[in-house]
Amino acid sequence: PSRTAPLRARAEIDLDALRANVRTLRALAPGAALMAVVKSDAYGHGAVRCARAAVEAGAAWLGTATPEEALALRAAGLPGRIMCWLWAPGGPWREAIEADLDVSVSGLWALREVTDAARAAGARARVQLKADTGLGRNGCQPEDWAELVTEALAAEAEGLVTVTGIWSHLACADEPGHPSIAAQLGLFREMVTHAEGRGVRPEVRHIANSPATLTLPESHFDLVRAGIALYGISPSPELGSSADLGLRPVMRLSASLALVKHVPAGHGVSYGHHYVTPGATTLGLVPVGYADGIPRHASGTGPVLVGGKWRTVAGRVAMDQFVVDLGGDEPAVGDEVVLFGAGDDNEPTAEDWAKAAGTIAYEIVTRIGTRVPRVYV
Ligand code: PLP
Repeated sequence: PSRTAPLRARAEIDLDALRANVRTLRALAPGAALMAVVKSDAYGHGAVRCARAAVEAGAAWLGTATPEEALALRAAGLPGRIMCWLWAPGGPWREAIEADLDVSVSGLWALREVTDAARAAGARARVQLKADTGLGRNGCQPEDWAELVTEALAAEAEGLVTVTGIWSHLACADEPGHPSIAAQLGLFREMVTHAEGRGVRPEVRHIANSPATLTLPESHFDLVRAGIALYGISPSPELGSSADLGLRPVMRLSASLALVKHVPAGHGVSYGHHYVTPGATTLGLVPVGYADGIPRHASGTGPVLVGGKWRTVAGRVAMDQFVVDLGGDEPAVGDEVVLFGAGDDNEPTAEDWAKAAGTIAYEIVTRIGTRVPRVYV
C-alpha cells in the first residue's frame, strides 16, 4: 500500500533511511564493527526486514535482548553473527548453540547452564562475558569477575565454550561529560586487561550504544552496538535532534481521518471532558489510540499534521481513537493525518511525541502496536 491506500493507520518503514543511518554510524566509528540492535522487533520497525537492510548496508553483527528474538532471525535465514544478552534460568541454550548464536553470560549460573548445554549438544558455545562496570543492572560485578573468568577459561579448556567477547553497557552515555562515563570506561579497560592477562582472547570488546557511538570515540573499541540511531532517532534532546545528528528517521506513522464534524462552543471532547471547545469549531477523529501505542500521556499535547497544519490531541487519547480540534477547517474524511515522520514537510517527529508525552522517543516507536501495519517503502 502507498501513502494514499485506504488503511486506518500505517507505519511506513523507510529502509533506505535505515541503510543511510548504518553508513553514517559506520563512518563515525571507522575502526569498529557495527552491531545493529534489532531487539523488540527492531524497536517496532520489524526485526527481519530491518536486520536484512542493516546487514546489506554493512552491519557485521545483529543484537537482540532475548534468545527467542535471535533464534527468530536465524530461522528467517539471517546469516552471520547474532548476539543475545537477556537470559533467564532454563533458557534455550542448546538451541542457541545449535543456531550458532553468541550468548552473553553475566554470572556463574549462566556459564554453568551454557556449558551443560554445550556438553549435551557436543558443540562449543560462543560466549561473551558481560561486566557491570557501573550501570548497576545486568553484568558481572568487578569483585566476582576473577571467578567468572576462571570458570570460563576452564570451560574453554574443556572444549565447551569459546569466549568471543567481553562487553559492558553505559549508564549515562546520553549525558556528555557525565563523570560515570570515564569511570565506566576505566573499569571496563581494567576488567578486559585482567581477563586477557589470564589468557582470554576475545574477538570483540564493546561498550558503546548509540549515544556513545555518536559522541564518544574512546568508547568504540572493536564494535559499537547501535539501536535508536539506526532508526534515525536522537538518543536524547541533549544531543540535538535527529537532523542535527545527520540521522534519517525510519518510521512514519499516519492515519486516515475517520470523521469530520461541526460542534458548538462548550462541547466536551472524549472521556472525562478534559477538552471543551472554546468556540464553534470542527473536530476530526483520528482512528488510533493507546492500544496502538499512542501514549495516553500525550492527551492534550500530542501533535499531528492535518491539512498542512499542526493540531493537538484534544482531550484524552482513548484505546482506539482520539480527536483533534480542526479550528473550523474542513479536511475530507480519509485525508492523511501524520502523527510523526522524518521532520521534513513540517511533519512532527517521534521526538516531538516523546516530549509531548513526557517520555523518550525509544518508547514512542517501540510501542506502536501490531494492529498498525508496517509498510516497507
Ligand atoms: N546494547 C544493549 C545491551 C542494549 O540493551 C541496548 C538497548 O537498550 C543497546 C545496546 C542499544 O542502545 P541504543 O538504542 O541507545 O543504541
